[in-house]
Amino acid sequence: MNSTTEKRIALISVHGDPAIEIGKEEAGGQNVYVRHVGEALAQLGWQVDMFTRKGSTEQDTIVQHSENCRTIRLKAGPLEFVPRDNLFTYLPEFVENVLKFQQENNIRYQLVHTNYWLSSWVGMQLKKIQGSKQIHTYHSLGAVKYNTIKTIPLIASQRLAVEKEVLETAERIVATSPQEKQHMRSLVSTKGNIDIIPCGTDINRFGSIGRDAARAELGIAPEAKVVLYVGRFDPRKGIETLVRALNKSELRDSHNLQLIIGGGSTPGNSDGKERDRIEGIVKELGMSDLTTFAGRLSQDILPTYYAAADVCVVPSHYEPFGLVAIEAMASGTPVIASDVGGLQFTVVPEETGLLAPPEDVNAFASAIDRILINPEWRNELGKAGRKRVETKFSWHGVATQLSELYTQLSQQQEQTKQPILLVAK
Ligand code: UDP
Repeated sequence: MNSTTEKRIALISVHGDPAIEIGKEEAGGQNVYVRHVGEALAQLGWQVDMFTRKGSTEQDTIVQHSENCRTIRLKAGPLEFVPRDNLFTYLPEFVENVLKFQQENNIRYQLVHTNYWLSSWVGMQLKKIQGSKQIHTYHSLGAVKYNTIKTIPLIASQRLAVEKEVLETAERIVATSPQEKQHMRSLVSTKGNIDIIPCGTDINRFGSIGRDAARAELGIAPEAKVVLYVGRFDPRKGIETLVRALNKSELRDSHNLQLIIGGGSTPGNSDGKERDRIEGIVKELGMSDLTTFAGRLSQDILPTYYAAADVCVVPSHYEPFGLVAIEAMASGTPVIASDVGGLQFTVVPEETGLLAPPEDVNAFASAIDRILINPEWRNELGKAGRKRVETKFSWHGVATQLSELYTQLSQQQEQTKQPILLVAK
């Protein structure tokens, strides 16, 4: 990079606040991704400003995470929680406020990395207004999502159009798995530049505690067979499949089987309703004794839960990447996941876990039993998972790849600027 070029990047995540508590409605992988990528980029010498929407009057406008990394909350619509499907109309105000922030702080972002389609629209406006270069990560593709859900929201056509435009116009698209890239190509457009850079995880945090210590801390008996789910309550996450699969497990009546479901929810909101629905199924199947709803688990306690489990199940109907899978693997716990999207990339069947067709209760039941009844194999799968994450999915490694990409784009900018300077002379 040219010495006169600043290493400055704006990460834009309109609906996924990187400074908020994770694991509740609409706060999941994207928030974790933006926050960790931001902090890791700052360690590599970047000045990182992460822009998000202010969701209440109590929230600080600026949260400083480290010397060079901060979250900046901008007003866009009412200062309250607004479901993401209703946010599009407030985006022009968000753009205006980014421009205002730039002006007041004497900054101009040459590089913007946008997250999710809503932010991609913001990035496209900044590109039109001031020539910012745009890097975009989808986190979820409308074209894939609307294939797997029954009620398609009104916003769908808008979303599909924006997702196509950004693929064709951004300087670079970051796909988090080869499967996601393939979906972009087959379902969105054959135009545009796509790089594959995966999501990452904190390999020091996950894997920091052993299984015996973790079980002692959580009061779980050494002989228990523990199956863990971690994630949001959303029908798309397939928790129902897991519950029904455990009901069919050979170990169902052994008194050793335990199901822990970790994830936050707010009564009355969509995640609260899904939790009620799942609790209803647990009761109906007579599984209340073996099931624990652990509530929202903080990133501090999560390593203990992953380490204590015999297996972690990710039964999503679709998953563009799926951070939970690599968090469990980093903790030495094998993963049984749906054979979809990024999970096909992170989980290597028979090596770090098993894959089963989504919503296939019998396939999940037999995969879970295969691992639970063979503890030695379980440990081997766990070790191989840890190794895979260490080599492929650390935040530091991910941020290094992103940093190289940004640097390349900045240099291109310098090169395209040069002829203009020569003409001016
Ligand atoms: N998570 C958490 N506490 C919880 C439930 C989930 O911190 O109680 C975190 C989890 O550790 C992971 C993220 O939320 O980092 C979920 O990301 P994933 O990509 O698996 O799913 P998404 O929420 O993006 O659909």
